[in-house]
Amino acid sequence: MRTKCIVSKGLVVVLLLMAVCGGAIAAQTKTKNIIFITADGLRWEEVFHGADRGLLSKEGGVADQAAADKKYWRETATERRKAVLPFLWTEVAQKGQIFGNRDLGSASRVENPYWFSFPGYSEMLCGFVDESVNSNNLVNNPNVSVLEWLHRKPAFKNKVAAFGAWDALPYILNRDRAGFVINGGLDPVNGGKISERQYFLNALKTETVDLNPGAPPDSIMFYSALEYFKQNKPRVIYIMLGWTDVAAHRGRYDEYLKAARLYDEYVRKIWNTAQSMPEYKGNTTLIMTTDHGRGEVGDGWKSHSTNLPGSEKTWMAYMGPDTPALGERSNVDEVTNSQFAATLAALLGEDYNAAQPKAGKVVQDVVKGK
Ligand SMILES: [Zn+2]
Repeated sequence: MRTKCIVSKGLVVVLLLMAVCGGAIAAQTKTKNIIFITADGLRWEEVFHGADRGLLSKEGGVADQAAADKKYWRETATERRKAVLPFLWTEVAQKGQIFGNRDLGSASRVENPYWFSFPGYSEMLCGFVDESVNSNNLVNNPNVSVLEWLHRKPAFKNKVAAFGAWDALPYILNRDRAGFVINGGLDPVNGGKISERQYFLNALKTETVDLNPGAPPDSIMFYSALEYFKQNKPRVIYIMLGWTDVAAHRGRYDEYLKAARLYDEYVRKIWNTAQSMPEYKGNTTLIMTTDHGRGEVGDGWKSHSTNLPGSEKTWMAYMGPDTPALGERSNVDEVTNSQFAATLAALLGEDYNAAQPKAGKVVQDVVKGK
């Protein structure tokens, strides 16, 4: 009787502990850090098919046909996509998962009804659509992003950072309220440890003539982000690259592919840097995506809007210790950009859906553990 009583008391304690900690136990993951890196308006077509023959031409504003063909033209789509995004196709799609190849029955799209950038980033970073966030104006987003939500937790305090070449990023993430390092446009980096190299990159930013107002080249911003990453070791870093979109709007298909190729190269660089650091090796998950698609017919590729069908189509890739290596996904449920916030949090063992019921659900297939 006495023994039984102890056992049942013990059981009650165990059950209580499970009730209190159940979520945390169930959500235990190996991921301690996240690298989230996006390429603005990079179409699913180029991601899965590589260069388009019709656009890799005078019609696509290609300046040097022979050079462009040499770089990007191959006989098969599998070879062509690897020529544009070699790291994505030889590493991420092998060791992780990629969604969005509609030819294989895998669709990815935005949920917002606008199909342009500010609402797109708000959707992916906050996890839901707010129809009042419907312009690219530099106005603070009233919504709290998953990055800000994480930063408010002691385990992530000052361990979150965001960098973007587009000067709208501080507004998308509401820098005035958010409280973590958010660097946008040509702003010098002024948070965390400023190394000699960061000081030099800051000088390059302040001395860049701003001929593409609001969206300076990705290169300086990326190296600023990489330097910040090395020096300050954030647990979550978000990096927003913009020149795929800039080049496409200018009707330069060769430069659009070059920007995509550089995006891939930057992902490789920061991933390999992370794997060389004990704080990140083996416990970091990479997330890649875009904020919107582009038009699909004729000149449509140059832009994106609700008047250009295809602009809602996206793609997404994940690689890390909790993501089974299922590769290029086929015949799966549609995924949406509103699922990034909760999925990013879930990879870190955090339940964003409980805090923000409007947020899209976790993409469970990438948080299953290995
Ligand atoms: Zn655009």
